[in-house]
Amino acid sequence: MSSVVNPLARIRHLLNALPIDLPGIARELGINIWKSKSLPENVAGKLTRDPKKAGPSGFAIFVRADDTFVRQRFTIAHEIGHFLLHAHLLAEGEEIVDKGEPRKELYRSNLSDSKEQRANSVAAEILMPWNLLRPLINERKAKLEVLFEVSRTMLDIRLDSHVGRRLKRGVPPNPALEAEFKALVEKWRNETEHLSSVKRMIEHPAYERIIRIGSKVLPMLFRELNERPDHWLVALNAITHEDPAPEGSTFREAVGAWLAWGRDRGYLN
Ligand SMILES: [Zn+2]
Repeated sequence: MSSVVNPLARIRHLLNALPIDLPGIARELGINIWKSKSLPENVAGKLTRDPKKAGPSGFAIFVRADDTFVRQRFTIAHEIGHFLLHAHLLAEGEEIVDKGEPRKELYRSNLSDSKEQRANSVAAEILMPWNLLRPLINERKAKLEVLFEVSRTMLDIRLDSHVGRRLKRGVPPNPALEAEFKALVEKWRNETEHLSSVKRMIEHPAYERIIRIGSKVLPMLFRELNERPDHWLVALNAITHEDPAPEGSTFREAVGAWLAWGRDRGYLN
């Protein structure tokens, strides 16, 4: 199993109350935030390794002082995303400068577009975490904008994602896959119950087949984990490339963290 490092692991405990406390997150990460009057109009913000302006991490975020409050929040979350994902790319004195049309939040920088997309998705995870959005998923958008302190554009992108749509509409039934999954689980359980090696259990062909089915199998896998907790965490990890279990957690705690993760993303009722 390849280990998965979630960039948000360090600040997960700060993503539990609305509105998200961005200055608190920056403090936790040792980043100074500066509101700048001198950034050009086409620059929304930047992440910089400037020893004079930086916090204990060595990094500072500059955000355009004249932008609207919600755009500044998005910019700060986006720069935090760059810090968590891309800090290692910057030598001292270097910076990531995010340019964008005034009022729009999709930035371009000196990094590739795919790195920009990753920073945007971390920004969305920070500002609108699913654990906080799920219980409010059917509220009016005007109310959500106020609660989460985000623009309508960012809210729409979040709600229109796979997870957002699944939370609203649920998972459509798939009887053929359900039957295949059930048979694979039964075969796996029967043929591995005498094994003491977890490694050999998860190398069983039925287990590997479940992983190869991919994300379509997640609703079934989460239901199975909920009803009969077993060695499914490796499969979940392999399929989602996530690891919500806190470091050093027991099996029970890890299962609890995974079930909460699955519930927050609409895989489990
Ligand atoms: Zn960027």
